[in-house]
Amino acid sequence: MKSFAKGVLFLLLFLVAVLVIRTFFFSSRQQKFPAIEKVQVSDSVIQNLAAAVRFKTVSYENDSLRDTSVFSSFHKFLYQTYPLAFSTFVKENISSQSMLLRWDGSDASLKPVIFLSHQDVVPATDEGSKWTHVPFSGDVDAQFIYGRGTIDDKCGVLGLLEAAEYLLNKNVKPKRTIYFAFGHDEETKGSGAQEIARYLQKKNIEAEFILDEGGSITSGIIKEVKPDVALIGIAEKGRATVDLSVDIEGGHSSMPPKQTAIGVLSDAISKLEAHPFDARYDGGTKALFDYIAPEMNFVSKMIFANAWLFGPVIKKILSGKNSTNAAIRTTTAVTIFKGGEKENVLPTHASAVVNFRILPGETAEDVVNHVKNVVSDERVKIKLREGYDNPSAVSDEGSEFKLISKTIKETFPEVIVAPYLVVGATDARHYQKVSKNIYRFIPLVLNDEDLKRMHGLNERINIENYKDVVRFYMRMIENSAL
Ligand SMILES: [Zn+2]
Repeated sequence: MKSFAKGVLFLLLFLVAVLVIRTFFFSSRQQKFPAIEKVQVSDSVIQNLAAAVRFKTVSYENDSLRDTSVFSSFHKFLYQTYPLAFSTFVKENISSQSMLLRWDGSDASLKPVIFLSHQDVVPATDEGSKWTHVPFSGDVDAQFIYGRGTIDDKCGVLGLLEAAEYLLNKNVKPKRTIYFAFGHDEETKGSGAQEIARYLQKKNIEAEFILDEGGSITSGIIKEVKPDVALIGIAEKGRATVDLSVDIEGGHSSMPPKQTAIGVLSDAISKLEAHPFDARYDGGTKALFDYIAPEMNFVSKMIFANAWLFGPVIKKILSGKNSTNAAIRTTTAVTIFKGGEKENVLPTHASAVVNFRILPGETAEDVVNHVKNVVSDERVKIKLREGYDNPSAVSDEGSEFKLISKTIKETFPEVIVAPYLVVGATDARHYQKVSKNIYRFIPLVLNDEDLKRMHGLNERINIENYKDVVRFYMRMIENSAL
């Protein structure tokens, strides 16, 4: 007995030693780079972005509502505002109102780099009434530029053009060819991005890397890490919508069967909500914690350093919040439910729509199989809608990732940089055949409040932050192409 107890004690001590040693070696992945001298960015960038916001380049779910003339005038505005850029760049022939600009480099043997952004914005519902500034006013005060599109994503289009115009003014000539691709319907179908990606593929162009929006600098959102954290999206989730329907004989409500169409469908929906997809701690989400956990306190660090043992605990913790839950599993969201016409008539038909966001590693086909297995009721028809997107590939944390990290640290010396999984969707997903190195980041400093402004009320950008966006793009162009 005594030797048994000794054995257990020895094993425990051994385990603790392994945990501690692994924690010790789970060291910071943050590299230090000397901060660069802050470029003086002219105040004209403020009025330029404000003016851009005033063009109502709205993408509606119903594409026939799109005001194409606004996009044309927006283009004219860009030509006038950035004369050097538009007289230097080759405007590639894209049939939609998306824009592909080519800045030729001197060394044709280098693969090009592509910077993405989008011209369109989501509608501003409740126009005016709940906004402190009218949504498309482009109002400016001492601290902010206000309006729809300031953070999503005209700061990207204008920021890139400001950076290019500035460098052209300094007579800078890139070695590597640079493309700027500005989609016109990122917020809906992304058909512009698809057209551009096909165009580049046809020309056999493979990009060294692609940088789109999709990650930002989070401030106070990851509570366990004190500094702001710059999140570079290395992958994004896919999406699929499934229609469920039940057709059953009707009749009078005075002699009902045990279940009506509504009851049958409700059961199916309850089952789906009760059986979420399995959680997985891998890919972009594991990469995120590999980068930020070393910056946390000892206990948190120990947990993430020993995911081999604490995997179930980690999944449990991350499942606890909607935002982190979305990062570790394919999510199920029942968004529409319809059934019944009249109080005394048994419904013959009920239907529901369920929207899934698919974790990299799974596919739309897996989603349909999951739904069939969980519902397991032949009375429920299950149909995958056309137009689904499988998740993106996961880009690595190699030299391109490091180059973006370096540029971030040069512009924002205090931040922690980390890769992560984007749970929304960006235009970048359409470019997968153009490059295997696709990253999603724009250096907007956003706290919890600011995140709600994106697609929400009172969208605005801090003026100093916008100037840093311009500086970041200048440096990104220099670091990648000069
Ligand atoms: Zn966007």
